[in-house]
Amino acid sequence: MKEIFSYVGGQFLPGPRTFSKRSPVDSSLVALVHEADEHVVNLAVSAAREARQDWEEWDRNDRADLLDWLASAILERADDLALVEVADIGRSKSEVLAAHVARTVETFRLYATLLRTESNDAWHGRALSPNIPRNQAPQALAYTRRRPLGVVAIIAPWNVPLLLLALNLAPALAAGNCVIAKPSEHSPSSAALLAEILHEAGLPPGVFNVVHGFGANSTGAILAAHPGIDGFGFTGEGRSATAIMKSAAEGLRPVLFELGGKNAGLIFADADLDKAAQACAAAAFANSGQVCLSMERLFVERTVFEAFVSKLVENANRHTLGPLISQEHRSHVHEAVKRARQAGGQCIIGGEVPEGDGAYYPATILTGLPDDAELSRKETFGPIVHVAPFDSEAEAIARANDTEFGLASMVWTNDLSRAHRTAAALKAGINWVNCWQVRDFLTPLQGHGRSGVGVQGGRESLEFYSQVTTTVVSL
Ligand code: NAD
Repeated sequence: MKEIFSYVGGQFLPGPRTFSKRSPVDSSLVALVHEADEHVVNLAVSAAREARQDWEEWDRNDRADLLDWLASAILERADDLALVEVADIGRSKSEVLAAHVARTVETFRLYATLLRTESNDAWHGRALSPNIPRNQAPQALAYTRRRPLGVVAIIAPWNVPLLLLALNLAPALAAGNCVIAKPSEHSPSSAALLAEILHEAGLPPGVFNVVHGFGANSTGAILAAHPGIDGFGFTGEGRSATAIMKSAAEGLRPVLFELGGKNAGLIFADADLDKAAQACAAAAFANSGQVCLSMERLFVERTVFEAFVSKLVENANRHTLGPLISQEHRSHVHEAVKRARQAGGQCIIGGEVPEGDGAYYPATILTGLPDDAELSRKETFGPIVHVAPFDSEAEAIARANDTEFGLASMVWTNDLSRAHRTAAALKAGINWVNCWQVRDFLTPLQGHGRSGVGVQGGRESLEFYSQVTTTVVSL
């Protein structure tokens, strides 16, 4: 039986207990995972703190070369990485290769390039001529430098495990930090293999560590409470983020949070309805809706409502959905759909648990719910979308913005002015116009409201994982 160990200071360490990682496809045992307790987390923090000095002093071109080298090492093992990720989460291998592994390689390369070429003053420092009154002080020149935060914890979710780890790991390493990663208990395998790959590729021991376990009352909470951690990159749910933020408050440590959404798409009557329906089906059902940027609410101009819904159904039927991450998650999703029906929602397609093994759930399209229904407000993180008609642009914007989240939005229209006007009015970190999920990781992403804290992106991530020192020289 495959066993998964924590990776600490260049060594693979057992924990005092193991737990079973099971397949969402057929509940078979994927691996026995060693849960890191306080002792293992302490060892990881000590190893990272010891490695810190040397790593921080690496020349940035050498660090860029190493990141490129690591990217190539990951690419060489792309197939192996895809296979273990598929076993953990049940997504198809081709999707995992393209959306998880290839984009992880790209992320490492991107930060290597940024390290070499980012001439932006915010990252590489800037020179200033301080405006000091002549009679008060000597004239001076000031300049800034950035140094790493130190040892950072990266706590990752299960929905796109490798990539969502890499989006924090690559900038954290690029900025010269040592990292302790805690993958989700539902998807430990790709982080475990990544540790092997980076180890063999020559990343110095202690610079990257992985501890496995659960969140609350387990490895995640122990890591969050550890005073040896200087900052946190977290992707996951708001409830977990609140707990981590409380721990981070002890020691006033900075956090970068990418959280959930209840994202809305607006479809205007003048849009290309075929393209819109195709993109909306992908936005609702890709990875069985387990994407933070999924669109769970669609608002469609009333004159084209019926036509759009039938096109959406056609497109939904073309999607082959993989399983949800676990039986437990499927129960949450199904219970949410049942309550939505009781609240007056009508299922146009889906909404029933299929027979057979595996945590499968069908593409589900609902209509008829009021905006204050639970399903209109809470993220389901499943293949569930609610479609509602609207009569005016102002109404559509107000209803889309009526949420405590603010991660992503989508506008479909062929009216250029309306596209810009609407995108500007929507309260979301990223607004897509006539597209969905077109994403360059250099572009900033900030969750508004309960969707996040801080900004992720090429330069913004480097800024988060570093801090500024200003030097003032008397002239
Ligand atoms: P989750 O919050 O349950 O778990 C995420 C990670 O946090 C796991 O490693 C877990 O073990 C750990 N964790 C949980 N509680 C913790 C605690 N108290 N202390 C320390 N660590 C703790 O989230 P999930 O179910 O893995 O992921 C799904 C959620 O993530 C959804 O809400 C989704 O929208 C969100 N998400 C957001 C983005 C984004 O970029 N905004 C991307 C992907 C997923």
